[in-house]
Amino acid sequence: MLTIRKKYGILLGFIFVLSVISLNLIMDKFFDKSFKDLVAQDMKEIYNISFKNLDDYLALNSIEKDSLKEEDFDSKIMKFIVERVNAQGVFYDIEGEVISTGLTNSSVVDLNIFKDLPLSFYETKNNKTMLDIENKNGTILGKLSIPIYSSNNPLGVLVLIKDYTSDYLRDLNIKKLLNIIVTSLFSLIFLAIYIFSSGITKPIIVLKNKLLEVSKGSYPEKINNTSKDEVGILVNSFNEMTEKLKAKDQQEKNFYRNITHELKTPLTNISGYAQILNEDDFNDVDFKRNALNRIISESNRMHDLVMSLLNISKQSSDLEEYSFEMVKIKNIVQELIEIRNPIIQNKSLNIITKFEIEEITGNKQYLKMLFNNLIDNGIKYSYENTTVEIQIKEVDRICEFSITTTGKTIPIEFKEKIFEPFVRVEEKGFSSKESSGLGLYICKNIVIGHKGEITLDLNKDKSKFIVKLPKD
Ligand code: ADP
Repeated sequence: MLTIRKKYGILLGFIFVLSVISLNLIMDKFFDKSFKDLVAQDMKEIYNISFKNLDDYLALNSIEKDSLKEEDFDSKIMKFIVERVNAQGVFYDIEGEVISTGLTNSSVVDLNIFKDLPLSFYETKNNKTMLDIENKNGTILGKLSIPIYSSNNPLGVLVLIKDYTSDYLRDLNIKKLLNIIVTSLFSLIFLAIYIFSSGITKPIIVLKNKLLEVSKGSYPEKINNTSKDEVGILVNSFNEMTEKLKAKDQQEKNFYRNITHELKTPLTNISGYAQILNEDDFNDVDFKRNALNRIISESNRMHDLVMSLLNISKQSSDLEEYSFEMVKIKNIVQELIEIRNPIIQNKSLNIITKFEIEEITGNKQYLKMLFNNLIDNGIKYSYENTTVEIQIKEVDRICEFSITTTGKTIPIEFKEKIFEPFVRVEEKGFSSKESSGLGLYICKNIVIGHKGEITLDLNKDKSKFIVKLPKD
């Protein structure tokens, strides 16, 4: 498998080679053109001067231009022509035979060069002046072939030759130097890009490895992250995600451990009493009544527990598809209080209600379960002769239900924890026998299903459960 880093490296290498080659090609072209321009410009001057020389020579020797003959182009005239230009001259007949030469410095000129006709020699036939740049064993020669006519008859071709090797070598050195500079600069830039991009991909590789660990079911250590860019955000999200998964996993394990424990205790009691009752010589009437009562109450407790568990499991599958409708919550709350009248009377509780709104959008069955749990707890855990305050109000399109009670004290460290499953607070005077510690957990799930929130305010023995639900 090609890793991101390798793919990036290959792509960068490809771009690098391509850019260096094309840049060098462009530079080669540029230097070639500028060298040709330089030769053409120089040759043009040589041409002008040498033709001025020819005119001077003809005037001095009283020769008419139109009556020029091939024989006139002897070495004397040739020497005169090239005298003030730094070039060599050679006159060929139209067949390419050397007629005469004009040398400015015969000692340094390789006379063999005159034997080789310029590449474009025969193109001069159409009265065209041609320029050739030729490389003869490392010597760069500029050759200007000028057709000479007399009374419209071709006499021959005057070729002016100049050595441009030193100019060519100078250009070549500059070109090489530039090639080296460009290649090194590109190498540096691409290396910097590669190192920089490797820095970006490094945390992604770490992330990939850690994700593989998570997919195999383990929870890896947090990834150290200092960057705040997109990759940094990704790493932080991953850290948060694994933390949450870990917590959820732990919560699930605790949940099942607690269920087993909660079911085991009543089952042990029931089977214990049943065994005693089953003994042949058992005839204690009082114990029998007590034992049967315990069996009934433990069975009820188990029934309640199983019902709560069924609720929780149904709820988690319903959560996504809660069907919503207009729910008359004021009526529901009033009914829930009414059916508890006997216990309210029994504990001499003073119930104060304040309803600002009557209905909200929600799931009727679950909202009923939510208020039932909270009101049930409120009454169950209140001290006798105290006030229970139930309020429903609206703040910024949010319905706020609250129940304030005075009674069993919830320690401050339970403020958040109390909504977790199987969490109960033990206090003298309050039996925890019928309590499962699942009521508030169910409430929290219902509230989340309604995109709301549930909180608890504590002040000594005063507890205030607040539920905020979107009204529509
Ligand atoms: P359960 O009532 O079955 O124990 P809950 O989840 O409803 O389960 O409540 C968890 C614990 O929270 C209770 O055991 C009780 O200690 C505490 N609690 C709940 N409501 C109140 C309340 N209104 N006043 C005081 N304590 C409460």
